[in-house]
Amino acid sequence: MLGATGATGATGATGATGPSPTTATIDPGVLDVGVERILVVTAHPDDVDFGAAGSVASWVKQGIAVMYCVVTDGDAGGSDRSVARPDMARLRRSEQRAAAAEVGVDDVVFLGYGDGRLLASIELRRDITRVVRQVQPDRVVTQSPERNWERMAASHPDHRAAGEATICAVYPDARNPFAHPELLDEGLEPHTVRQLWLMGAADSNCFVDCTDVMDRKLAALRAHASQVGDGANLHELLQRWMGGNASAGGLAPGRLAEAFRVVDAG
Ligand SMILES: [Zn+2]
Repeated sequence: MLGATGATGATGATGATGPSPTTATIDPGVLDVGVERILVVTAHPDDVDFGAAGSVASWVKQGIAVMYCVVTDGDAGGSDRSVARPDMARLRRSEQRAAAAEVGVDDVVFLGYGDGRLLASIELRRDITRVVRQVQPDRVVTQSPERNWERMAASHPDHRAAGEATICAVYPDARNPFAHPELLDEGLEPHTVRQLWLMGAADSNCFVDCTDVMDRKLAALRAHASQVGDGANLHELLQRWMGGNASAGGLAPGRLAEAFRVVDAG
């Protein structure tokens, strides 16, 4: 079970993904007890780094194994039409691997779906279920499938599709032996994920203090040079976003946080 440790009445600053006044805030330290493996599933290269790289850095520091599954290669990214799309896909895979290394993650799998046209199809559910059964994570982190009207970019259709398919993989597909029977044929036994963490949600209820690992998050984001250029505006952007998250989570002034909607999936 997830342990709610009190309610906050904070609604957050502009741009924050704070809780509603009735949402109980959950202490992330309580949730980390007993967690050995975490799988992060995102639509595009760079999504995990904007939404969760600071948290990932802190989890790796604790000795938790973290693995990434990226559904597309981000081949619709950037605005330079002179770059052939297969070249962009190769570049973005290498950028994501470099970004992962900055926060201590060396296990990154790409599913190779087309960027910009992702659907929460039964095939995508099966492919994510396969990874869940292989990794057997205690926690899965993914993107909210719900539209957040405060943050249009967080609600990119690919993000919502990847999130929906991942949630379906967590429940019920990965734990149901009769879902995707071809996976049993591959020797992949059912697995129950206990915790589901959603990035970009409008009703976040868990705030991870990332102040002490901001150098790692910035380094991870700067690895995506095809998307962030020289990264000159990243520091100011993160101060605003993550300061708002920290405020919404009731953290001390000056702290910086990543925000999640945590769901008890066990
Ligand atoms: Zn994205």
